[in-house]
Amino acid sequence: MQPYHKTQGIVLKTRKYSESSKLLTIYTRELGRINALAKGARKIKSRFGSSLEVFTESKFLFYKQPSAGLYVVSQSQILAPHKALYSFQDKFAAASVMADFLYTHTIQAEAHEELYRFFRASLKELELTEAPQNVLLSFMLKFLTVAGYGLQLKTCSSCGSGAAESGRDCRLSAKHGGVLCEACSRKEGDSVVIGAAALKALSFLQEKGYKVTANLKLDDTSSDEIKKVINNFLKYNYDYELKSLRVMEEIVK
Ligand SMILES: [Zn+2]
Repeated sequence: MQPYHKTQGIVLKTRKYSESSKLLTIYTRELGRINALAKGARKIKSRFGSSLEVFTESKFLFYKQPSAGLYVVSQSQILAPHKALYSFQDKFAAASVMADFLYTHTIQAEAHEELYRFFRASLKELELTEAPQNVLLSFMLKFLTVAGYGLQLKTCSSCGSGAAESGRDCRLSAKHGGVLCEACSRKEGDSVVIGAAALKALSFLQEKGYKVTANLKLDDTSSDEIKKVINNFLKYNYDYELKSLRVMEEIVK
């Protein structure tokens, strides 16, 4: 008798495996990020219906194929299709960046209940919002906080002293993961300048709930500065640049 695993999950990626099967990457509640084979999923009348579409949350029953060490989808049932993400190009692009972000910043087979709930809530919020860019930026900052790498914006991230006076431009260090005081700014070479307005917005997007951040009006300068800070942080700490963020930039203007 095969051991079965029952869990909820959200599909992050799907690709062709064979003429009739798909290989999926699913972020699951109980098993973390896994790869799973869906046999027959590419057939026109697949028994899985649309439960295996990207961004869809479903209830899954898997078993493990002992030889390949791969999960196989035995059953799936839709919980939340997140259909609105397919109706708007900017929402679809933002959701793709989110899925890419989650994929990159999680380890295979490591479950994280809080991250799962946060990702699900973020997709829901993106479906409903009129400000996809705010949801996306807020998602990335909140994600890092949930994962334990939130940006330190109130006190100097190098020496711990009280940082920038509000209302003034300051520097943000990717290495230290936050703002720098004036003395440390002079010592650190890798920091980027962020204007007072952008810093305030950055802190707002990181700390406040989606309902509140949806109303934030971001001018182009602040939005560019915030994206630069996030990208700089990711490049330094993860040696990774979000390819899809550039795609997003072209769509959301
Ligand atoms: Zn300092």
